Amino acid sequence: MQRGSSKCELCGFEHTLSVYEIPPASDPSVEQSILVCETCHNQIEEPEKMDVNHWRCLNDSMWNPEPAVQVMAWRLLKRLDSEDWAQDLLDTLYLEPEVQQWAQAT
Ligand SMILES: [Zn+2]
Repeated sequence: MQRGSSKCELCGFEHTLSVYEIPPASDPSVEQSILVCETCHNQIEEPEKMDVNHWRCLNDSMWNPEPAVQVMAWRLLKRLDSEDWAQDLLDTLYLEPEVQQWAQAT
């Protein structure tokens, strides 16, 4: 909550927040979790319900210094990579090698 300033770390929404553990969560620590709102959470869990326009928020959140947020942003952009804008963001998103490895772990 403190790290995310009590906002969804993906879209900035301030309500219906919960903690999402990023799989594979070997240890359920704060470093491997992000704070997300219900809208983001539902779409992370159910890829077929992805609302493309909602994820324009990744334009900002992918620059979050927190590796867990970067990993989630990268994975979501991968899901959306049939969209030109998402592909463009993926092209500009640089991850440290160990973060990249984590992003590709599932
Ligand atoms: Zn959200």
